[in-house]
This record gives sequence, structure tokens and C-alpha cells, in this order.
Amino acid sequence: AKRQGRNRAVAFHSEFADGMSRRLQLVSELRLALEQDQFVPVFQPLFDREGRAVALETLARWEHPVRGLLLPGEFIPVCEESGLIADLGRRILHQAARHYRRLAEHGLGHLRIAVNVSPAQFNDELVRDVAQVLREHQIPSDVLELEITEGLLMADPERAIELMNQIAAMGVSFSVDDFGTGYSSLAYLKRFPIDRLKIDRSFVRDLGTDDDDAAICNSIIGLAHALGIRTVAEGVETTMQLDWLRARQIDEVQGYLLGRPQSFDVLVATLQAR
Ligand code: C2E
Ligand code: CA
Ligand code: CA
Ligand code: CA
Repeated sequence: AKRQGRNRAVAFHSEFADGMSRRLQLVSELRLALEQDQFVPVFQPLFDREGRAVALETLARWEHPVRGLLLPGEFIPVCEESGLIADLGRRILHQAARHYRRLAEHGLGHLRIAVNVSPAQFNDELVRDVAQVLREHQIPSDVLELEITEGLLMADPERAIELMNQIAAMGVSFSVDDFGTGYSSLAYLKRFPIDRLKIDRSFVRDLGTDDDDAAICNSIIGLAHALGIRTVAEGVETTMQLDWLRARQIDEVQGYLLGRPQSFDVLVATLQAR
């Protein structure tokens, strides 16, 4: 039994070491990927109540030289832990602004462009980055929207309010992403300069089959509207979900039913054909 225990410990240790070295290897790969500009944006459209496209959400992808196109789940967490997220976030922000210029050239300049911001990125540096991006790319500040998480608002509210106010003063707007997963009350949100709430996909998924989720969506929409905050539903995959949400006056919808994340060129061609 003793020997078995030791073997297990050895096995565990080497698994742990393997995990560590894989992680270190990934971090150095990510550094190189940043140097070589291997991160590319894809874009997913958001639609208003009349079905018109009103915004594009920028989603990062890693064009890995060997493994192909990788999803954020494979690299964002490691970027956050290793401090590389500031660099990645800045690049995505610049990419989004650059693509907005191209949207405008295609007659789609009325669309907002949304960028996800990690809590690890939320500091003075972000305020400077946003100012620089607006200046450098000469884009109207009200087309830029930052998607932040509920957790960020709750971790250090005073600091979050301060930074958000500085960015909002430039004309940039804020959405709270994955709303409903972080247990913050809607009344609490009133303290932050927030324009939109994005109802988390997990509540949208079971609309029509789960009464609790329907009640949650219903009350988020109602209370947000009472507070003058717009509502967005993410992860809309069925017409049943779409009809349910529209009947309850959701302002905007996003999901595979209406449009998947796509390369800029494909998306622009689709939007122009509508
Ligand atoms: P998110 O901000 O909640 O983005 C929405 C995610 O849901 C995207 O996954 C999108 O492809 C997916 N999605 C959209 N519609 C549907 C649908 O109808 N059904 C289902 N099942 N999924 C749908 P993706 O692209 O894998 O991104 C995952 C997360 O990675 C994002 O979640 C966001 O938190 C993070 N992320 C992506 N790009 C960036 C970035 O540039 N910076 C930062 N900090 N985070 C990013
Ligand atoms: Ca988002
Ligand atoms: Ca989300
Ligand atoms: Ca449920």
C-alpha cells in the first residue's frame, strides 16, 4: 500500500510538472504569437427589434501555425494569468477600430463595434489605450463599446466607477456581459455608467422549457428598462427563443440563429446582401 501511495505521488508529481511545463510552453508560444501578429478578430452581428444589424462583437481567434484556428478558451485564461492580456487586448482594440474604418467604407458605418475587456485589463492603461485608439484611427467614440463582466463591477466598485467614468467621458459605451451569473442586483448597477446588459446565454438557452429562466429573463428586461438600461440577449439559437424575447421587448439579440462569428469579409458581404 505504501509503495502504491508513493507511485501515485510520483505520478501526480509528474502530471503536475507536465502541466506546468505545458503552461510555460504555451506562455512562450503566446509571446511569439503576439510578436508575429497571429491573433485575428472574427465578428458576430447584433440585431435590433426590427431585425436590423446594429453592432458587431469582436471575438479573438488565434491563427496557430500548426493547430489551426483556436478559440479564446484555449488562450485567454493563460493570457490573463501571465499578464499578456494587456498586449492582446490592445491589439484586438486596434483591430476593431481598423475594421470599423472598413465598415464605414462599405456603407456600414452606423454599426457599433464591441470589444471584450478582461478584468485583468481594467486599469489606467486601458484608459490610455482607448484614448489612443480613438485618436489614431479617427473613429467616432460613440461607435465603440466595451463589454465588461459583472465580476469586475463587484470586485472593486469604486475603482471600476472611476475608470468607467473616464472612458465614458470620451463617449465610449459599456455593456455588462454574461449578466445574471454574478449575483449583483440591478439597483446596484445604477451606480455605474452602463448602457446595456447582455443576458447570459445560460438563461436564454432554456427559455420556454424552464420557468425559472423565463422569470429571470423577464425580470432582468423589466428592471433594466425601468432603470433606462438597454437589454441584449446572447446565445439565441431558436426562433422560439427569439419570439419569446421580442415579445418581452428585448432591445437587441445575438446568436447562431441570426449570425455566427465570421471573418470580416464574409460578414460584410452577408450584411450588404440583406
Ligand atoms: P462572450 O463575450 O460571452 O462571447 C460570446 C461567446 O458565445 C463567443 O464564444 C461566441 O462565439 C459564442 N456564441 C455566440 N452566439 C452563440 C450561440 O447562439 N450559441 C452558443 N452556444 N454560443 C454562441 P467565443 O468566441 O469562443 O468566446 C468565448 C469568450 O472568450 C467570450 O465570451 C469572451 O469572454 C472571451 N473573449 C473572446 N474574445 C475576447 C477578447 O478579444 N478579449 C477578451 N478579454 N476576451 C475575449
Ligand atoms: Ca462578450
Ligand atoms: Ca457573453
Ligand atoms: Ca435552468
